Amino acid sequence: MKWPWSAPSIRVRLTAWYAVVLTAMMIVYATATFVAVRHEFLEQLDDQLHDDFETAESLLTRTADGRIVWAGDRHQDPDSDEVRVYEVWSPAGEQIHRSGASVALPPVAVASTHASYRYETVAGNNERWRTLTAPITIGGHAVVLRVSRSEERLRNQLWEILVVLVFGSPLVVVLAGVGGYLLARRALLPIDHLASEAQRITAERLHERLTVPNQRDEIGRLTGVINDTFARLESSFDQLRRFTADASHELRTPLAVVRGIGEAAVTERRSPKEYEDAIGSMLEEVDRMTTLVETLLRLSHGDAGRIRVSREPLDLGQLARDVTSSLGILVEERNQKLMLDIADGVVVPVDRLVLREAVTNVLDNAIKYSPAGSTVAIRVGRIGDEALLAIADEGPGIPPEHRERIFHRFFRVDEARSRDGGGSGLGLAIAKWAVDIHGGAITVEQRPGGGSEFRILLPLTPAVATTHDQKTTQMRLGG
Ligand code: ADP
Repeated sequence: MKWPWSAPSIRVRLTAWYAVVLTAMMIVYATATFVAVRHEFLEQLDDQLHDDFETAESLLTRTADGRIVWAGDRHQDPDSDEVRVYEVWSPAGEQIHRSGASVALPPVAVASTHASYRYETVAGNNERWRTLTAPITIGGHAVVLRVSRSEERLRNQLWEILVVLVFGSPLVVVLAGVGGYLLARRALLPIDHLASEAQRITAERLHERLTVPNQRDEIGRLTGVINDTFARLESSFDQLRRFTADASHELRTPLAVVRGIGEAAVTERRSPKEYEDAIGSMLEEVDRMTTLVETLLRLSHGDAGRIRVSREPLDLGQLARDVTSSLGILVEERNQKLMLDIADGVVVPVDRLVLREAVTNVLDNAIKYSPAGSTVAIRVGRIGDEALLAIADEGPGIPPEHRERIFHRFFRVDEARSRDGGGSGLGLAIAKWAVDIHGGAITVEQRPGGGSEFRILLPLTPAVATTHDQKTTQMRLGG
């Protein structure tokens, strides 16, 4: 069972964290405030007590008959004072004067009263009294004066402050929590909006984009990132659709041919020789389809990273010679010339079979798309820390706008011509994949006198694995 609290929303969590932090801060703040106020109040009380003490010291006098009384107008009636008590004690520990509030305070320990002021808190009438005791002389006689002030008012004030702090703080936390919740909700509202907008965008509506309210804020940036992801997804979907459509189209033609031949063969009675020819043509088409399907399968394995390449040192010049001799028959048929310019010892760490296929495809194109009697030049050498294999022909060349796309699957500059030559539009896609997987690059350029030059560059030392992985990922679907 799923509890509603098992995954609270961000705004609830934000508010909870906010409230917890605020509560901790309020506790610290309230405690610090209370301690500081209490300290300040006690200091004020002691100051007042000191003033009282000095007043009493200057105003208490001794009469001729030895009594201690208040002099002057002040404190005419100290007995009406509710909060203060003045006591004079003789060195023998006898109380010889008392005025102020009527409260029973403990006697002064005269013996332990030294020259300095002594502040202390004592109990009297269930209240606490702050006292200041010190020896003085009145009329030349040494006595001990104790002035006391009730702490009650101070305690009441402190209590009120405590009540305000104790009951006010939770109120502040609750109010701030509600405010925080509303703020969090307001701040997160665009995310809810974003989620419902994103939900609307399905595979069929991938061209739609989220609206960006403010590009500069965090939500705006997030929306931008999501929109970019949708754009990439849309392009991948498009490529996938195109690829599927192209592959089906590619298979449909030979299938139609097979069907046509088959239908023509069965509508009329034919000689065994004619049947043989029909079956031969059908098998040719089946071969075409098999090659196509195998190539597609290999490309898809390459995309999925399922093709293992085993790198071994390979002499690029030797590979060029091998490919040239295996395609020699085509060159002869077309009365073309091959020119080889091969540097010795250009060794690259590659998978021989994979790279051989790439070079074969490029050379096959150079022969196929160049006129009879023309020359195809193959060059192997080094450029910096890379090996170069260049194949130049005297064919029609490739228009600049197509130079990148010819490496895409099923792309052909001239569809009819490519088909006639038995091309499926996958040769260069395979070549690019094979070169990429070795951390190399394949490019095409226009030659000054017409014709194109395909250049395969390969690192002379093994490429870093990540480069290969990245390139493989990039070429998926798009390659
Ligand atoms: P195809 O099977 O059609 O040859 P490729 O992938 O090998 O497929 O090549 C893609 C397209 O690039 C070809 O259809 C052709 O239009 C163009 N192309 C490739 N190589 C050459 C070349 N050497 N000269 C002119 N065009 C070329």
